[in-house]
Parts: sequence; structure tokens; C-alpha cells
Amino acid sequence: MRRYHAPGRVNLIGEHTDYNAGFVMPIAIAMGCDIRVSPSTRSVLHLTSAQFPGEMTFPLDVIPTMRRTGAWVDYILGVAREIHALGIELKPMKLHVDASVPTGSGLSSSAALEVSSALALLDGHELPKLELARLCQRAERNFVGMPCGIMDQYASVHGEEHKAILLDCRSITHQLVPIPDGAEIIVANTMVKHELGSSAYRQRVQECHEALSHFPGKEALRDVTLGDLERTASQIPEIPLARARHVILEDLRVQNFLEAAGRGDLHQMGKLMVESHRSLQHDYEVSCEELDFMVDTALTLDGVYGSRMTGGGFGGCTVSLVAPEAVERFEHGLSARYHDRYNLAPAIYRCTPSAGARRVA
Ligand code: ADP
Ligand code: MG
Repeated sequence: MRRYHAPGRVNLIGEHTDYNAGFVMPIAIAMGCDIRVSPSTRSVLHLTSAQFPGEMTFPLDVIPTMRRTGAWVDYILGVAREIHALGIELKPMKLHVDASVPTGSGLSSSAALEVSSALALLDGHELPKLELARLCQRAERNFVGMPCGIMDQYASVHGEEHKAILLDCRSITHQLVPIPDGAEIIVANTMVKHELGSSAYRQRVQECHEALSHFPGKEALRDVTLGDLERTASQIPEIPLARARHVILEDLRVQNFLEAAGRGDLHQMGKLMVESHRSLQHDYEVSCEELDFMVDTALTLDGVYGSRMTGGGFGGCTVSLVAPEAVERFEHGLSARYHDRYNLAPAIYRCTPSAGARRVA
């Protein structure tokens, strides 16, 4: 029996910039998705998950022409279709999914599922890492129907221990960035997910297109400078203007975060994370009350360099940089205050940059 693992990710900074050809800085995390492969006697793909009930069986010859089902299996079926489209034969198998990364919390359980299932379905057929990430992105875009950027799948494939991944989403190349000593990466889960999430995501993609249409000749918001934006601001409606302002400033923040990390300047890194959050809160409008409360609370606690929402927004997780000696008190303080306010116990994870997708058995 073979087993594959693909990690989830937490994005340190650079939110909603990937689909604007900009910069992001995720780390792959230890939590992820495991897939156990066993043989099937019939010519089918048989799918089960420890996190979702039911078992589903799909004849291999039907998969390439199927429509999406609306269920979790779509992530795997989408990957299977993309593998088939490359001319690689799908083999009969049983896949059992078991994830340690929470689902729907902004830590990209979806990319972890896609990437681990791609490795399983490829069955030893080697694809270059970038091709693997792109195949999984196409599965989510073309079949699941989410117009996602490349960040999640890229991070899940390219993760490295002790390093963050500075990804340029235009050239789709990355540089590894050591995280300075003296801070831990603490992720806190609001335990809420507002329904608005996926429709708002599509809407933001659309609003970025609208903003871009005011800059003829520019291919993506990545190419629009702050000066360009200021000169054109009076002609752009308020909402697309605010979205563009977020994307342009967020790209600059990623660059500044990289420089600060190089100097080991945790205070500056934290400050940029807070600026990122405020921009997501007010200009990009993808935060929510619970995320704002969690960030605001984190910032009142000792030893916190910075805190922000991470992932698409409308619930899910925050990420904070916290001095190691303050972590325990931070966790207690944040949990208690969040619980008092929302009567929910937030899950808190200490995250370390971890290796990318691989066969584990
Ligand atoms: P995120 O990627 O932030 O966790 P998404 O909404 O993008 O949130 O993806 C979550 C979806 O991915 C789940 O609703 C489910 O359909 C699928 N998924 C993720 N992990 C699993 C799993 N372990 N088993 C089955 N489906 C999963
Ligand atoms: Mg996802």
C-alpha cells in the first residue's frame, strides 16, 4: 500500500495578490493531507475520506467527460481529468483521504487534497514540480470552478523546512527565505466560515479586472505602480480603486517583508503584517468581525510582533509572529478572550515551515 502526503500552507504576507501576478510569501506547514492508495479490482476510482462521510465510485472511462458533482470528490476528479488530458492513463485504485489540516479554514486543505491525490493518481509517473502545481491549479479552476491563483498548490509542492517561499506569481519562480530566529508562527482558527467566501472571491477577481481596465497596456495589477494609481484615481470607481490600492500596496509590503526578514527585523515584519490586515479589512473588504477581533486581541498581548488574517478571508485563521517565550501566554490569552466574546474555542497551531508533497510509504 502506498501513501502520499501534501502539506497545507499558511501565507505570511501577500494576500489576494497571486491572481494579480504579484508576490506572496507562504510556508508549507506540517499539517496536510494524506492519501492511502490500494488496488481496485474493477476499472474504477473509489474514493473515501476520514473527514467526510460516504464512499463514491467513478468508472475510469466516465471521468474525462463528467460534470462536477458539488461534493468534495470534485477536487480529486478534477485532478484525474487534468492527468487524463496530459495523455497519462488513469489506473483503477482506491484512495482513502485523511487530512490533519482543518478544512475550509484558509490553510488550503483543498490544495493539499489536490496535490496528494495528483501524486497518488500519477502512480509514480514523474512530473516536474511546477507542472504538478499547475495541474492542480487547473483542476480547481476548470473543474471545481474556483478561479484561484497558483499560491496554494505551489506552496504545497515546493515547501521546504525552515524556509518561507517568496513566490513571484508572474514568472512563477520562487526564492527561499529563512525565517529569522526569535519568533514563532502561530496560527489561530476563528472556527467560523462565512458563506460569502467563495462568491466574494470571484467578485474580488472581477473587481481587480475592472480596476485593471483603467490601465490600458498593463497586463495585471502587478504592473500598475502607486504613481499610476494616483494619476488615474479620479477616473476609477471607489470600489475597484480600493481593491487596486490593496493589491499594489500589498505587493510592496511583500518586498519590504522580504528585506526585513533578511535583516532579522521582526518588529518591521510584524508591522507589515498588521498593515496587510488593515488593508484587507478596509480596502479589500475580505475580513470579518471574528478575524478583526482576533487580530486586535493578539495585538494587545505581550511578545506579539504582528498579526493578520491569512487565506481568502471571511473566517478561517489569523497568523501571528510571537516571541517564543511569550507563546504559551499568548495562546491562553487569545483563547480566553475569543471564547468570552464568541463562545467558541479557537484551535491554535504552532506552525513551522515544512517539506513539500512527497511519497511517505
Ligand atoms: P481551504 O482550502 O482553505 O481549506 P476550501 O474551501 O478551498 O478551504 O477547501 C475545502 C474543501 O476541500 C472541503 O470543503 C472539501 O470539499 C475539500 N477537502 C479538503 N480536505 C478534505 C478531506 N480531508 N477530505 C475530503 N475533502 C476535503
Ligand atoms: Mg482552498
